[in-house]
Amino acid sequence: MSKQRRCVALLSGGLDSMLVIRIMQEQGIEVEALNFKTIFTCCQDQSAQTARDLGVRMTVVGQEDDYLDLVRKPAFGYGKGANPCVDCRIYMFERAKAFMQQVGADFIVSGEVVGQRPMSQKRKDLNVISYHSDLEDLLLRPLSAKLLPMTLPEREGWVDREQLYAFEGRSRKGLIKLARKFGFQNIPTPSTGCALTEPRFSRKVFDLIEMPTVAQRWDFELLKLGRHFRYNELTKVILGRDLEENHRLIGLHEGADARSTAILWPENYYGPHAMLVGPPTDDALEFAAALTLRYAKEVPDSPRVRIDTAAGTRVEAARPREDAARIQTVATM
Ligand code: SF4
Repeated sequence: MSKQRRCVALLSGGLDSMLVIRIMQEQGIEVEALNFKTIFTCCQDQSAQTARDLGVRMTVVGQEDDYLDLVRKPAFGYGKGANPCVDCRIYMFERAKAFMQQVGADFIVSGEVVGQRPMSQKRKDLNVISYHSDLEDLLLRPLSAKLLPMTLPEREGWVDREQLYAFEGRSRKGLIKLARKFGFQNIPTPSTGCALTEPRFSRKVFDLIEMPTVAQRWDFELLKLGRHFRYNELTKVILGRDLEENHRLIGLHEGADARSTAILWPENYYGPHAMLVGPPTDDALEFAAALTLRYAKEVPDSPRVRIDTAAGTRVEAARPREDAARIQTVATM
């Protein structure tokens, strides 16, 4: 009796990864799903539900801090936003390989389709990803396998190449038809689920990494909330957009790895909290206070702001400033 073969499938929760899992199951291959999350991945992905629907066990792996090196300086460049997709895929597959060895699986499958995404799924990119992740022919892409060189699972007869596919390009028609054939009830709409592909978020990322201070995980986490204003190349002010963000700013300010130097709270008016990242000079603090006035609901005759810094807490008058009234957020510049 031949050995039961097992594969690891990268599961994003999107249609492509659902299809490859079902294709493998149809060929009698046991599937272990692996979901990769980064600090930029959207929290609403459907992967856990998808894994349940497909009857596969799913393990979630997170990025380590070295992932941020790829965002700072990707060897294979960015996509349209701050998304270093080729480097990111290599990173994911390296971890998938380690997982494959850990669970005793035989190969890896992924839902990449030749030519579907301009940044990471051109035929050349697929080769680069296979090569640099050191997977080579242990990486099978069932949706486009017939357009690609034979992989080990096909050569060894673990997988029947004839029952694989030759999808190419951006059209989803054929994939949706296949999903219907498999009886999928819910067909997810396409989404990368990755903030690095969003133009506004990307501008914040580029603003951060182009500055002289080497951005750490804390800095990247901070990009997910608030309005960001660049005061100078060492200093940024972040305003909370609502009560929840005000609280989250305080939480980040109080974190062990925080790089913020001051938090400003409106003392006698309803306005946003402001976080200062960078040297807390008098002028930078005045600028931050003026920004809280710009976004305040009502401003009394003598607005005051409480300023918490490492040196202690004090209350100062807040005054409008021309530069604070004019400046655009980093995301809109
Ligand atoms: S979209 Fe984001 S998570 Fe997906 S490959 Fe690109 S960088 Fe990685």
